[in-house]
Amino acid sequence: MMQAVRLLATRDVQLVTCPVPEPGPGDVLVRVLAVGICGTDRHLHLGEFPSRPPVTLGHEFSGIVEATGSGVDLPLGTLVTCDPNIACGTCEPCRRGRVNLCLNNRPVGVGRDGGFATFSCFPASQAHVLPGSTDPCHAALAEPLSCCIHATDRADIRPGDRAVILGGGVIGLLCLQLAVQAGAEVMMVTRSDSKRALARTFGAAVTAQSAADAHAIWPEGATAVLECAGVAETVIAAPGLACRGGRVVIVGVMPQGRLTTVDPFDLLFREVDVLTAFLNPFTQARATRMIAEGSLSLDPLVSRRIPLTAAAAVISTPAPAAEIRAMVLPAGA
Ligand SMILES: [Zn+2]
Ligand SMILES: [Zn+2]
Repeated sequence: MMQAVRLLATRDVQLVTCPVPEPGPGDVLVRVLAVGICGTDRHLHLGEFPSRPPVTLGHEFSGIVEATGSGVDLPLGTLVTCDPNIACGTCEPCRRGRVNLCLNNRPVGVGRDGGFATFSCFPASQAHVLPGSTDPCHAALAEPLSCCIHATDRADIRPGDRAVILGGGVIGLLCLQLAVQAGAEVMMVTRSDSKRALARTFGAAVTAQSAADAHAIWPEGATAVLECAGVAETVIAAPGLACRGGRVVIVGVMPQGRLTTVDPFDLLFREVDVLTAFLNPFTQARATRMIAEGSLSLDPLVSRRIPLTAAAAVISTPAPAAEIRAMVLPAGA
């Protein structure tokens, strides 16, 4: 038997004892080493994001291969990270190559059992291998990083561009590092003093406390504006921070059904593109490689490390303001 943190129903997340899953053909069973608590887990707990309870949460995790099903040649003991999004390959969006829009995606930790557990079983095709020397907490950041790589791809950030990042959570701080590496001059906008300070250590050229301050600093606007906060205030402000012909990429997740306002006249007369970046199509391998190479600063993103027994309580309460990522270590520190 093993322990798992399961969403039993909306607003009901519990640590339960359950059987260790058996890897079927093509599956890998991993002993989970690190699994991040994401805003999505809190949205799932509150019923603000579609899911299929009862389900074991946890879609950002790394672990050691413990067992494999038939047809899998991953050596036991290999460190892997899981790409939780499983494209069917046959639905209409998949056939157009838009695998992140798969009609049949049942993501690991959302639509099927995930990583807040002693062991997790998923298709081996979703496993990405890392050197054994990699910090498992860094490896567990591969999924959010892969989403940020997709976002910066969509933003088409080029050397010499100006980019504004709205929101200083893990997504904003990873997008910031990617934009800096792409050669952009980057502004981080967040109310948090500590996150602005961290953003400067990651290479932010300027920081601002609010969208109004950001507009005062760069009145002509930025080529790319990445909305990484997932709140109405910054979604509404984002187009106004883009330059003429600039683009906005919505990365943050707002609750389903929550509406905001746009000014179509302004979008039209300044031809501002409003795009979105959903999940991680074909970007998990790039994320995994960047983590293996150590080309990003990831330690400062891990705010605290907690045991599996504490995870349910943390998921069911709002994140402390200064927290970036809480990591659950099911196998102990
Ligand atoms: Zn996540
Ligand atoms: Zn599909």
